[in-house]
Amino acid sequence: MTKPSNKNAFVASWSYEAAPESTDHIQIKKQYELFINGEFIAPDNGEYFETVNPANHQVISKIAEASATDVDKAVNSADKAFKKWAALPGKERGKFIFRIARLIQERAREFAVIESLDGGKPIRESRDIDIPLAASHFFYYAGWADKLSYAFPNREVKPLGVAGQIIPWNFPLLMAAWKIAPALATGNTVVLKPAETTPLTALKLAEIIKESGLPKGVVNIVTGAGATGAAIVEHPKVNKIAFTGSTGVGKYIQKAIAGTNKKLTLELGGKGANIIFEDAAIDQAVEGIINAIFFNQGHVCCAGSRLLVQESVATLVIEKLKNRINSLVIGDPLDKNTDIGAINSEKQLQTIQEYIKIGIEEGGEIYQPDGPTPKIGNWCRPTLFINVSQSHRIVQEEIFGPVLAIQTFRTIDEVIDKANNTPFGLSAGVWTEKGSKIFYLTQKLKAGVVWANTYNKFDATSPFGGYKESGFGREGGLHGLKSYVKFQ
Ligand code: ADP
Repeated sequence: MTKPSNKNAFVASWSYEAAPESTDHIQIKKQYELFINGEFIAPDNGEYFETVNPANHQVISKIAEASATDVDKAVNSADKAFKKWAALPGKERGKFIFRIARLIQERAREFAVIESLDGGKPIRESRDIDIPLAASHFFYYAGWADKLSYAFPNREVKPLGVAGQIIPWNFPLLMAAWKIAPALATGNTVVLKPAETTPLTALKLAEIIKESGLPKGVVNIVTGAGATGAAIVEHPKVNKIAFTGSTGVGKYIQKAIAGTNKKLTLELGGKGANIIFEDAAIDQAVEGIINAIFFNQGHVCCAGSRLLVQESVATLVIEKLKNRINSLVIGDPLDKNTDIGAINSEKQLQTIQEYIKIGIEEGGEIYQPDGPTPKIGNWCRPTLFINVSQSHRIVQEEIFGPVLAIQTFRTIDEVIDKANNTPFGLSAGVWTEKGSKIFYLTQKLKAGVVWANTYNKFDATSPFGGYKESGFGREGGLHGLKSYVKFQ
């Protein structure tokens, strides 16, 4: 029997010198306009909102609030650009997409810092995951632009027209890339709306798009909140809606476009089960649990927010987990040592705190490390809930924060039942030494992605999407092209 507590007391006693990423190489304007028809233009009604750094509550910049009139301009410019763009040979379209990919790579450091400033995620994550993956999606789909006849052999495909794309705040640039790259590769034009708390990297992307020489109107970026998103959804000239966000808004969109010809893909919430069998490599599994729930402060739709651990190893796993979260560094997102950055907004922090309260009231046993957190900013300690059951709200509902609900199981059948007993079906993880168990579970788990002996691994070549209330349609990989074409 190992003695994790003693070992960890030593590790937890380490302190790290601050290692902040420099910010002197970034350029952020005081005010950003809308990107319509290849130009930055002021909003029709002259309204702006502020984007705030969630780690210190300082205003970073003022952002144009697009009205329905501005959305109309953007959609018309995309509609006008469509014919020529769709008629361009795939090889030529690909060149523009490759150029965008390379420009993101060239400015990767700047993008990473701005992503962390605007959204609160640790610089290690924006630097090593968000930005390289965003570039990789553009590279990947650039490669498909002139090979659509191989993607859909013996079928003739045509683009849909104007794609209205609405994205959330948890992976701002990456979600923009997931949406824009396949739409362009297949010959569609785009009106994209970033989330209101994290608009900056999408606006930086607009600068790159302008620099790339992409024909005017092919990509339009409009900023604003729910009303701006609704104006895109309801616009009659929009032929396809791609939405990533909450299940509530996803349901609204589905209702709003019912009876129209608009195509729809929805990537919504999740409550991923991360399943640890007794034969798993326990230390690796513990790291996997940490990555599954605390990556990006748990603001991840596919987060492993439910831990299902086999009873025989539950005590050991929970003890190791408690020790491990004591050594997680919470604080400045720009510090390279930081494991858990700032919660994206005060509103989201309140939601998470409310769920923690509910968890306690429902009788869950809470565990949180008690180290200091910065005085100003939105912070939430990594949180474990032990002794919770299927009926608890913190087991059923998506929290979208660093809160893990821990349950145990005895048999495979029991864990399959528990894992599937949720309205969602986005992701799951399985940790075991036995390959046959992995194959059995991947068949039985109702989840769009099942990771084996790892978690939260993404690749541009791999499709991603859900079942049930997690949405429908796939993004990434060859499957991601399908959502942007019609068959002749
Ligand atoms: P969250 O609740 O986590 O902020 P949302 O689903 O509200 O997630 O936000 C995801 C995206 O959907 C954001 O870009 C947001 O502005 C947009 N949005 C919110 N309400 C609507 C709506 N009624 N119609 C279209 N888009 C919306």
